[in-house]
Formats: sequence, C-alpha cells, structure tokens
Amino acid sequence: MNLVVVGAGVIGLSCAWRAAAAGHAVTVLDPAPASGASWVAGGMLAPVTEAWPGEEHLLDLGVESVRRWPGFAADLTAAAGLPAGLRTEGTVVAATGAGDRAELDALAAYLTRLGRAVDRLSGRELRRLEPALGPDVRGGLSVPGDLAVDNRVLLAALRAAGERVGVRFVERAAETVLDDGTRVTGVRLDGDVVETDAVLVSAGAHSASLHPALDGLVRPVKGEILRLAHRTGAFPPPSRTVRALVDGRPVYAVPRDAGGLVVGATQAETGFDTDVTVGGVRDLLRDAERVLPGIAEYALVESAAGLRPGSLDNLPLIGGLGPEGLLAATGHGRNGMLLAPVTADAVVALLRGDAVPGQAKAADPGRFATARTSRR
Ligand SMILES: Cc1cc2nc3c(=O)[nH]c(=O)nc-3n(C[C@H](O)[C@H](O)[C@H](O)COP(=O)(O)OP(=O)(O)OC[C@H]3O[C@@H](n4cnc5c(N)ncnc54)[C@H](O)[C@@H]3O)c2cc1C
Repeated sequence: MNLVVVGAGVIGLSCAWRAAAAGHAVTVLDPAPASGASWVAGGMLAPVTEAWPGEEHLLDLGVESVRRWPGFAADLTAAAGLPAGLRTEGTVVAATGAGDRAELDALAAYLTRLGRAVDRLSGRELRRLEPALGPDVRGGLSVPGDLAVDNRVLLAALRAAGERVGVRFVERAAETVLDDGTRVTGVRLDGDVVETDAVLVSAGAHSASLHPALDGLVRPVKGEILRLAHRTGAFPPPSRTVRALVDGRPVYAVPRDAGGLVVGATQAETGFDTDVTVGGVRDLLRDAERVLPGIAEYALVESAAGLRPGSLDNLPLIGGLGPEGLLAATGHGRNGMLLAPVTADAVVALLRGDAVPGQAKAADPGRFATARTSRR
C-alpha cells in the first residue's frame, strides 16, 4: 500500500519506519523533520509516575508501551545501526513539603490499588539511592519500571532506520488531506497533489488543521524546558530520572550521557506561542535547585519551548477517521515518547486490516464521533 505520513516527529517517524519494514511504500512529508515537541521533550518513559486517578486507560496504554520499549529500542538499533538512547536506571519521585508528601502518599496508594510496583522511601533512603538529592527532600517513591530515552538520539535513529528501509522524506508542508467522501485520494501541498491510498496524520499540535475530522480534537499545550551540563568540580548528576513536587509544583530532571541533565517542564495553553519566558526559566531553575542543589554549578546550555499535541481527554487519537485510508496518530500530549512503540504497532495493525493492541482500542478517535454529531 502507498502511505503518506504527514509529520516527522517521534510518532510519524516511528510509524513510517515500522510501516515500511512491514512492506508499505512510505513517503513522509515534513518541512522541518524532528523539529517539533519531539526535539525538545524530556524523554521520560513514565506511565506510572505520570498516573492520575481517572486516567486508567492512559495508564494501561502507557504500561503496555513501556513494556514494548526495550524490544522497540533493540529493533531500532539493529535497523539503524545507531543507539536508540534508552536508559533503564528507573525513576525516583521526591517530595519537599508536608503537602507534597501527602500527595505522593495518595499516588502510591492509588498505584498499589492498581497493582503497580512502587516503593515508599524516606528522605534519607532516597538520598542513599541518589546522593544528588538535597536536604529539602523529605521522602518519596522509587519506581524502577519507569524508563527514559534521549529524544535526540532516538530521532536520529528513527530517521536512519526509515531511510534504510526505503522511507522517502519530502521536506514540504501538507496543506490538507483530500478525500472523495468515502476514501482518501491524496494530500494537497502548495500547488501540488500527492496521490496515495492512505494517509497518516501525525503532525503533532498542528494536526487539527489537516482534515475536518480532526477539527477541535487536538490543541497545542506549551512546555518550556532547559538543558544543563555538569561542569568539572560540581556535584555529579543523578543517575535516575528525578521527579519532584516542590510546594505543589511538579519539576523533573532527566539525565543524559556525559553529564547532561534535562530540566522540565512548564505547562500553558497559549496557542502556538513558542517563546521561552523569563518566568518559566526562573520557576524551573528555582524548583530544580531545591531538589538538586548541585545544579547551581552546572552550565545552562539551552532553553526551549515545544507544543505538546493535547487531546480532549489526554488519551491520544490512534485509528481511522472516517474516509477509508485516513488514519490519525496524534494527540499524545505529554506522553508521545512513551507511547511511540504501541502507537507504531497499532498503525501497522490498522494498515494490515487487523485489530489494534487491546490497550490501544481506547484511543480510537471514534470515541469523539458521538460528541461531534450531537454538537452539530
Ligand atoms: C517540554 C516538553 C517535554 C516533554 N516531555 C516528555 C517526556 O518526558 N516524555 C514523553 O513521553 N513525552 C514528552 N513530551 C511530549 C512529547 O514530546 C510529544 O507527545 C511528542 O513529541 C509528540 O510527537 P509528535 O510526533 O506527535 O509531534 P511533534 O514532535 O510535534 O512532530 C510533529 C511534526 O509535524 C510537522 N508538521 C507540522 N505541520 C505539518 C504540515 N502541515 N505538514 C507536514 N508536517 C507538519 C512538524 O514540523 C513536526 O516535525 C514533552 C513535550 C514537551 C513540549
């Protein structure tokens, strides 16, 4: 089958590689591949520490995807001849004030009820695990099963794997996906139409404008993030991902190779704005330093903002959109890195005409059809 993938972020690249490996003729359209949210992301693969009561479908989907991550990374390294950037040291979650401890206790109780593995630790026990944690950390959790990935290493490997298996990359923007009412006919670019049997919309926060069926279903959610580098003589960075609540505000630090540390992330609904604000940088550094005091001596090497593709219920949209051959893989919000393997497997199953993995059924965009019909 001919497949056009619109958007080369982690989702489009993962689906393009897997679809081409399954025998489809794949073209990826993107004027600036790997430049969206996937380029700035922290890279936590953290279904458990992201869990939230009421989002059980998302937790199930995330747990399934993190289970697939080691195999996905091994396949990718073999296919690309490059590292995939996976880190398996696990995650600790730290609380500072009494209110933060109470919130983590509630999270631990909720996860235990769901049968997920978490260990509650005192501040001292946490510091034994991660000496970089400062004295303000009063307690928290250890979650060995939550992984992490270096997003930029991953994107390079995905692009290389795609190219090796015949994916064609065209650096142009899609204007709209065309259909004749029953099936997809092509994609319109400025002045051109690319004809195709199937289209996968994976343009991240920009997906909603590409077909009326996605209208109002995906919106940009801005996130600011910082990249730090350890300097000689400074306290060494943590080896695990550190997530923390500081007086109710969430902050995280994800280690990279060679002393890198990614500190994130703010969250704001301000349309397609990608300015990094003074207040955003100040808040992230203030809160991260409360948890990891040694970072005061690190170099601040980058500040960036990206647009998470937010959906209406925080679950992604993975599946058909009505016209035959029109698929979506978007709306992954704060979990696109985590959900890449399960999303790519679901898309390949859909292209084959098979059922998607069980946990991905809840992400079928058809769940919004009733709401849309009754809104009209
Ligand atoms: C600050 C921050 C931190 C994050 N941290 C994490 C994390 O720790 N773990 C995690 O799992 N997730 C994280 N996320 C979320 C994750 O980054 C996103 O869910 C994921 O990157 C979405 O991938 P995507 O491929 O859908 O979109 P994107 O990466 O945004 O890619 C979309 C692509 O589509 C292209 N495009 C747009 N319009 C068009 C068009 N008209 N035609 C063709 N191409 C087009 C763009 O150029 C872009 O390359 C974070 C996000 C942010 C912003």
